[in-house]
Amino acid sequence: MTLVARFAALSFAASVGLFAMGCVVAEGEGVEGEDDEEFEVEPDGDERAAESASVGVDCSAKRTDTGYKGGKAYTITVVKADGKPIEIATASMYARMQKAAAASGVAIRVVSGFRTNAEQKYLYNCYVTKSCNGGNLAARPGYSNHQSGHALDLNSKGAGVQTWLNNNAAKYGFKRTVPSEPWHWEYWGGMVDGGCGGGGGGGGATPAPTSGCTSATLGKTVPLNTCVQSKFDGKWYQCLPGNDWEIRWNVPAACVSEHPL
Ligand SMILES: [Zn+2]
Repeated sequence: MTLVARFAALSFAASVGLFAMGCVVAEGEGVEGEDDEEFEVEPDGDERAAESASVGVDCSAKRTDTGYKGGKAYTITVVKADGKPIEIATASMYARMQKAAAASGVAIRVVSGFRTNAEQKYLYNCYVTKSCNGGNLAARPGYSNHQSGHALDLNSKGAGVQTWLNNNAAKYGFKRTVPSEPWHWEYWGGMVDGGCGGGGGGGGATPAPTSGCTSATLGKTVPLNTCVQSKFDGKWYQCLPGNDWEIRWNVPAACVSEHPL
């Protein structure tokens, strides 16, 4: 009885977290071509800092935060990539892309990622008052692409980086969304490799393999890519490596079995 209760509590906690990520998916629809009309300063000045930062995706600082798209707030899960905060699904695919580029001898790094509303308020105030940040143009709080957590400024001046991205980033679901900013890339797809750099991040550790996930709804451990409709919120989840339940429609892999309520 105690054991069952513990499973239920654990899985419920996971479901709450995943529900939060589900909001990202909904908000991410139809973003292509939108522009916050905030012209960025090319990030080459930060390149050395990016090079010296820790490389790859790091989930040890995993947290939830409030992302914004078009002024609307939603909950996102934030991890770090190359030492910079970014949204977790974006990080998972970034890790895969970074590894592929590294295999071609190209070192891609995140120079700038997620920006909190407090940071955007600061920058916007600088723009309005011309008293800080060089008075650079900044979008209104809630309207910067970087508040989504899905936008990355990459080290486009790095050797071979821009060419590699132009030729390959689309294969990983990354798109340039601001024509005048070749360093600015966005990813609005699903989580891969169980998140947290499971695909490797230029030398990052591979997660320990797991045989499946614990389902409180079914009361047992199920194989990878099992899809279960949760008795807690009625939503569908899919089992990913690391006992990680992800919103079903956010996972490219097919379900190996389906368990409706
Ligand atoms: Zn940008």
